[in-house]
Amino acid sequence: METLVFDGHNDALSRLWGGMVDPVAEFAGTNGHVNVPNCAKGGMKAGFFAIYSPMTRDVFDLSNLDPAIFDMPMPPMMDEGLALTSAIGQAAIAHKLQDAGQIEIVTDAPALARAFMADPIACILHLEGADCIGPDLLALDALYALGLRSLGIVWSRPTIFGDGVPFGLGRVGDTGPGLTDDGKRLVARCKDLGVLIDTSHLTMKGFWDVAEAGVPLVATHSNACAVLNTTRNLTDDQLRLIGETGGIAGLNFGTIFLTVEAWKTGKAPLDACIKHLAHMVEIAGEDHVAIGSDFDGAPLPDGMASAADLPKLVQAMTDAGFGQTLIAKITHENWLAHLDRHFDTEA
Ligand code: ZN
Repeated sequence: METLVFDGHNDALSRLWGGMVDPVAEFAGTNGHVNVPNCAKGGMKAGFFAIYSPMTRDVFDLSNLDPAIFDMPMPPMMDEGLALTSAIGQAAIAHKLQDAGQIEIVTDAPALARAFMADPIACILHLEGADCIGPDLLALDALYALGLRSLGIVWSRPTIFGDGVPFGLGRVGDTGPGLTDDGKRLVARCKDLGVLIDTSHLTMKGFWDVAEAGVPLVATHSNACAVLNTTRNLTDDQLRLIGETGGIAGLNFGTIFLTVEAWKTGKAPLDACIKHLAHMVEIAGEDHVAIGSDFDGAPLPDGMASAADLPKLVQAMTDAGFGQTLIAKITHENWLAHLDRHFDTEA
C-alpha cells in the first residue's frame, strides 16, 4: 500500500531560518527531517509548516540535544518585535520555497484537495505561539495576508494571550492560567478569519477556554497522558472533548513525548508511537486522530530518521493490526476531512 501522509506539525521553516542558509538549496537537499527528497521518499504530501520564534538565531542541532534541558522552568515572555523578526523571516522563506516550486501554500479546501494529490508539497502555514502579535492583532492580519491559516496561541512560554505549559514529566498540563481577555479576542478574530486554533503547548485551563469559544479542539502535535504523563500530552478528558467537538489530536514523534526513558536517553522505540495512537483512537475516536510529527523540532524514535521513513510507521501500524481503513484515516484522511470542514470552501 502506498504511503500518503498529511503531517500536522513540522519545524522546517525555523530550521532553515536558524541555519542562515540558502533555503531553496537547503530544502532541495537531504539535511534535516523535512525537505523535498525526504518527503518524496516518505510519501509526505502535505503538512502544517510552523513559524516559530526562538530567542536566538542559530543552527538547531537535534543530534546534540540533551533531554534534561526540557525539564526546566518556563522561559519568560518574549519581546514582540524580536518575535516578529523571526516570524516574518520564516514566512518569507515559505514564499521562497513556493516560488521555487518546492511547496504550495494552500489557503482553502479546494486548493488543498488538489495539491494533496499533486506535487509540490502542500503547506498549511501555522504560527506556533502568537509571541509576535500585539493587542491590536495587526500582525495576525499581516500574516493572514501571507497565507497563515493556523495558529497556536502559545508555545511553552507565556504570551499576552495565555500561558503555555513548561515541559515536565509526571504531571498533566494543568500548570497555569487560561486565556486572557486578549487571548479570547485573538480566538474570536481567528474564528472570523477562518484561521484554525491549535491547543498544543497550551495549559489545560486555556484548552477549556478554547472549547468555550465554540471552535473544534485541535492539538496538532500532542500525545496521550495515559501512556506517558507529561505536561505536553493530553488527558483522556481532553482527548474525549477533541473527539466530541470534531477536532484532531496529532501523534508527536518527539521521543520525550513518547516514553519515560527518553527523558534520560533521548531515545524511544517506534512501537511507543503505536501505544499512543491506539490509546488516542480508543478515547478520541478513529476520525479524530492523525499525525503531527514535530519533524525538525524534536528527536525521533529509533528507525525514524526523517520524513523518508514514514512508511516504517505505516508498517508498524500494520504489524500492530491496524486495518487499512484506520491507517488511511490516521495518515491523511482525518486531516483532509477536518480542513475540508473548516477551511474556506471558496478560492
Ligand atoms: Zn511544538
